[in-house]
Amino acid sequence: MYAEDGVTYECKAKGRFRKEGVKPMPGDFVMFTPPEQTVGGSIDEILPRLNQLPRPMIANIDLLLIVISAGDPKADLQLVDKLLLYAGYNHIRAAVALNKIDSVCEKSRIPQEYQGSGIQFLEVSARSGEGLDELKQLLKGKFTCFAGQSAVGKSTLLNAISPALKLETGEMSRKTARGRHTTRHSELLLLPELEAVVADTPGFSILECMEIEPEELRMYYPEFILLQGQCRFDGCLHVREPQCCVKQAVEAGKISEGRYERYLKLLQELIERRENRYV
Ligand code: ZN
Repeated sequence: MYAEDGVTYECKAKGRFRKEGVKPMPGDFVMFTPPEQTVGGSIDEILPRLNQLPRPMIANIDLLLIVISAGDPKADLQLVDKLLLYAGYNHIRAAVALNKIDSVCEKSRIPQEYQGSGIQFLEVSARSGEGLDELKQLLKGKFTCFAGQSAVGKSTLLNAISPALKLETGEMSRKTARGRHTTRHSELLLLPELEAVVADTPGFSILECMEIEPEELRMYYPEFILLQGQCRFDGCLHVREPQCCVKQAVEAGKISEGRYERYLKLLQELIERRENRYV
């Protein structure tokens, strides 16, 4: 646990919390009694949370930063869309960092997939240092949760921003042939130079953690919301309905086809989940 004075204290949660069914989470702000010579420190009170994610448990996130790779591994945009949905559902601001831009000759077309969505895109390279100042500016003063596929370079990026962290990266563990994921639990990392805290998370259980009905999904696509008032049907899901303005925008190239296709896929997943619930 980190205190305001920058010192780390080891504290245990009081038994009362267990009785109340409350569990301290990484990211919690707490009132505590520091340890003394013979008596261990204790967490006395957990302050109200701004937000919280269940799996992995983490609280008070200011920003969910989705890291993807412009090169290898190929960006899983379905995962990006799910993470954006997850952030929207939990009222957390999201941004995307497109890493490894030095490894491709052509400019990535991925940001175009999100035109009209209002999602902030940063193009960065941990290796060449490109975009790192902008990334630092974004992280400054915030509690940011890094998310994304493995091997997209999350740890390398964090090392590039704050060399003092000395995080073990995927490349290193490949070299030592330990063959394991480098990040297994949410770890909080302090970046004092930016007055920031970062959580490197091992991955989220996304769809399982959201109570979203298929009809609600469209509300999480900012680029749809502006148009859907003009669709012929009020409850238009933008699938097969006639005179659908979202579909027209896709055909006209105003909304990316890929993003729309992934929306249909996600919608189908939610419909199937609902059907299975009642079996
Ligand atoms: Zn429509």
